[in-house]
Amino acid sequence: MRITNIELVPIVTRRHEHHPSAHVIVRINTDQGIDGIGEMPDLSHAPAIMPDVTDLELCLNDVLRGRRPQNVTEINAVLAAVFPGSRFGGKSSLVRCGVDIAIWDLLGKATNQPVCDLIGGRSRQAIPICYPIFRMKRMSDVEANLEVVAGRLAQGFDHFRVYVGANTELDAAFMARFQQRFGGKARVVAIDASGLLTVKEAIRLWERLHPYGFDLYESPVNRYDVDGMAEVRSSVSSPISEHVHSEEYALRVIKERSVDIFNVSVSVAGGITGARRLLDLADMAGLECLIGTTQETSIATAAQAHVGASCPRLDYHSDPVGPLLYLDDVVKKGVRFIDGHMQVPEGPGLGVELNDEALDRLRKPLSSRGDIDAGFLRG
Ligand code: MG
Repeated sequence: MRITNIELVPIVTRRHEHHPSAHVIVRINTDQGIDGIGEMPDLSHAPAIMPDVTDLELCLNDVLRGRRPQNVTEINAVLAAVFPGSRFGGKSSLVRCGVDIAIWDLLGKATNQPVCDLIGGRSRQAIPICYPIFRMKRMSDVEANLEVVAGRLAQGFDHFRVYVGANTELDAAFMARFQQRFGGKARVVAIDASGLLTVKEAIRLWERLHPYGFDLYESPVNRYDVDGMAEVRSSVSSPISEHVHSEEYALRVIKERSVDIFNVSVSVAGGITGARRLLDLADMAGLECLIGTTQETSIATAAQAHVGASCPRLDYHSDPVGPLLYLDDVVKKGVRFIDGHMQVPEGPGLGVELNDEALDRLRKPLSSRGDIDAGFLRG
């Protein structure tokens, strides 16, 4: 089997309560008539530079056409050489992610097996999910977010992740009212400061919010301030979670003992292969894991589900809920969430099927302009 063509389709999906997100859908064809689909998810993050999709498609065809899709290691090495870097400060990892997901989908379809069976087999049937509550900047956000909790609780989500750090008083007000209204029925798994705070601010915020109860503290300070992370970690009793975006960074935080939990996603890690390598590394280092997200459509969410089902360990609730956050999707039957658990789609490959009508309808040239005011400021 050989790769004959790679096609890229840029799309924009509308989002509940937030600015829309841009994605690029990947289709890889082979000489055996078997196709794979992938996704470069949520490109609507800084920097405000979007890839030229036509040029990117030509480059991917130049480097991948004629290769055996079974050669996953070789393909990932080629992608890492041509598209180095992580999502933080660039978008290369999203390009690698889109291609790698499509390769695994293709291999699953070629062998009539779900992707999770190709990457270790099912360790768990479904992935426990916490629903994200976005950062509060004014009092009306507290009210609105309590209603989001009530709505999602009615849909079976009883674990939540709260983005904090813009305004301590609002964060504390939300946590207090969450406890009053939902205590006993719902739980805050994580508070996530997205690296906005100084070491002192991060410790003060933890002290203020900890009495309300949560399990982990994510990104208290800038992720590149590994010493600062270690200082926060030694000052608070909650485990510290951080987005681990590269193997180099993973080895650094392991060595410096600055995190307890690896937050790993296919987007940031550059695909299924990259995510598994980071999750395996955490397992080897005796650290804990959860599956993170940039919020993907059902294609990359399905990839996250297969990774989550088959990885060595998952210690906390994960947070990919893209198919619920977006009002649009590109597949015929989206990834499902039952009783707060992400379901692994059934069937060969990823288990999701592209909806060509939706793809045509959502197709839109990539632009960062709309993201500057809205998208870049969200959690
Ligand atoms: Mg985070």
